[in-house]
Amino acid sequence: MKKYYVMFGSLILCFILFMPVFSTDGIVSIYAPDGREAQVLSGEAESYFLLGWYPEPVCTMYSTDGKTIVVTKREMKNYLSEGWYEKPVSIIYSVDGRQAVVYRTEIEAYLIVGWYSEPPIKLYASDGRECIVVESQRNAYVSLGWYENIDDVSKIMISPEGVEERIYSDFYSDKFSEGYIVKNERVIDPLKPMIALTYDDGPSIYTRRILECLQLNNSTATFFSVGNNVEIHPQITQMAYRAGMEIGNHSYSHPNFNAISVEEALKQISDASEKIAIATGGFFPELMRLPFGNINKELSSVMNMPDIHWSLDTLDWKSRNGWEIIKSVMDNVKDGDIILMHDVYKETADATEIIVPALVKQGFQLVTISELAQYRNCILTPGTRYYSFKVEA
Ligand code: ZN
Repeated sequence: MKKYYVMFGSLILCFILFMPVFSTDGIVSIYAPDGREAQVLSGEAESYFLLGWYPEPVCTMYSTDGKTIVVTKREMKNYLSEGWYEKPVSIIYSVDGRQAVVYRTEIEAYLIVGWYSEPPIKLYASDGRECIVVESQRNAYVSLGWYENIDDVSKIMISPEGVEERIYSDFYSDKFSEGYIVKNERVIDPLKPMIALTYDDGPSIYTRRILECLQLNNSTATFFSVGNNVEIHPQITQMAYRAGMEIGNHSYSHPNFNAISVEEALKQISDASEKIAIATGGFFPELMRLPFGNINKELSSVMNMPDIHWSLDTLDWKSRNGWEIIKSVMDNVKDGDIILMHDVYKETADATEIIVPALVKQGFQLVTISELAQYRNCILTPGTRYYSFKVEA
């Protein structure tokens, strides 16, 4: 029996000795952000908290920009509604500009079906091809001749039937020869410099190049056409008119008006207007440029149109030198100028292809005479000569 007393005594002893350890008062539950749970003595809890344990159940939440935060389970709902997630997430991007947030573990599946881990960039080639790249690939593609802005490599053109079509730059000349024009999407800023290029004596076989260059640079000019040349190239005059160019009158056969009678001069003017109206389908010129710039008082009193002279003479007819023509414009051009050229010389077409983009790059708006007068608040009066349309001081 003695043996049993000893055992019982030991149990009592144990109970007394270890009582504080098993007491629920001295044990606390602690929680880790990864879901683990542990019991520690309340006196030791503080040191566990310093190691990243928490006194109540917590979880880690994740933001789309890669941040993490530990919140209590009670707070979780609020965080979910504020755009935090229970698992690591990433933003993925679609070609049409949509974004979506997905769990990291699902990304691969989305990439396979055409989503991107970076915003995709659509690039265009001059022959109409398109491709999708991401930011890190962009520069390599651009250096190979791909374009990010579709308008840098294509334009909306209008067919002879009036149908609008996006045409890539490799095909501009084909389309021009089929009679397409570039859709005019100009917006004129009245506060910015503007000038009027004018081309006399045409149309000719060189006019088409000038017309194409102006259209591709979102610009217009005024063509003072000679009636008998309009008879030879009516389709050029028609194209110029359709493309938003202004067609002015430069007589029927370019005589010296000081050497003919007023009646003959008036007949020259009305014959030219008639040829232009036939070619354009009904447009009668409203501006006159006199052959050689010659005027006499008698004619100006009966001429029913303003007399458009010029302020910058390129002397292209004299130099017949592309570089001289370019220099005469670029060295002297000022806001409000009317620039005189002739669309009957190859050198003038050559120079135009340099001058027009250069002027546009310098911030000049290339407009028609009527537009220039309108934006400079000038009401054109018949019989009056105009040299330029400068801003009034
Ligand atoms: Zn002339």
